[in-house]
Amino acid sequence: MAAVLLEGKVIAESLKAKIKAEVESLKAKTGRVPKLVALQIGENSSSVVYVKAQERVAQALGIGYELKVMPGTISQTGAQDLVKEMNKDDSVTAIILQLPVPKGIDAKRLINLISPLKDAEGMHPENLGRIISGQQRIAPCTAMAVMELLESTKVNLYGKEAVVVGHSEIVGKPLALMLLNKFATTTVCHIATGERGVLPEHVKRAEILIAAVGKAGIIKGDWIKDKAIVIDVGINKIDDKIVGDVEFDGASQKASYITPVPGGVGPLTTTILMRNAVELFKDSCK
Ligand code: NAD
Repeated sequence: MAAVLLEGKVIAESLKAKIKAEVESLKAKTGRVPKLVALQIGENSSSVVYVKAQERVAQALGIGYELKVMPGTISQTGAQDLVKEMNKDDSVTAIILQLPVPKGIDAKRLINLISPLKDAEGMHPENLGRIISGQQRIAPCTAMAVMELLESTKVNLYGKEAVVVGHSEIVGKPLALMLLNKFATTTVCHIATGERGVLPEHVKRAEILIAAVGKAGIIKGDWIKDKAIVIDVGINKIDDKIVGDVEFDGASQKASYITPVPGGVGPLTTTILMRNAVELFKDSCK
């Protein structure tokens, strides 16, 4: 393998040490600690894993954490009432809505209702809009995790050809804006790029490649430009194995840096969520 592995766990450990020290110093100054409330609607096996990880990391960092589970049968209005209650509760300094929500619940309306001052995931339109206007404060955790991984390579993004495959609101779009803010020449590919059959030609010129599609091995190893930095956000379950969107074996022969899946982006996102919660708390103390 030619490429250096970019392991999120290593960066997460150093970020955690900084966050823990910051929480301790905030506690000494204010007598309080940040408190993150996770709102879950109904039971969902994938959110159970995330919630457990969130609780474990929050506890390790000295951040308060509470999971509030609403019944899967709750109405939209009932769920909105709980969000409003959390917004008003001064002891709650950060809120996350666990996704997915059951059918019939409009997640976007709930996210829009979370106070932007308590929006731990950076998904409120005000916080997303801040990225466009160069006033980024709290931003989506996965996109921020990708930027942390890129930063760890110390490669200057200025003028680099960056290609983001995937244009979701949670990953691809905010990430593309963050790359633009660093003056990378940024291309965003999506389903229509794939359908038109031009995905390989975009990927082949990427010096920085971010894959966030959710289709195992959609990016072929021989498309990777020599010495490219490859960040694979994709999480795909094949039989009992988790794999990314990029064909790892081929890509790692050509890339200069590459994230493993699992072990790349994933381990960083919960830590970034906690960093967001601390930033919100700091703002609330001003
Ligand atoms: P999404 O389904 O919302 O978006 C998928 C994107 O891929 C869309 O922009 C779509 O247009 C594009 N796409 C689909 N088929 C394509 C094709 N053939 N060619 C080019 N583009 C195509 O997904 P998402 O929520 O952004 O997540 C993407 C992946 O990242 C998933 O595997 C998800 O599990 C993973 N993910 C990982 C983390 C993490 O912490 N590591 C966090 C969020 C999402």
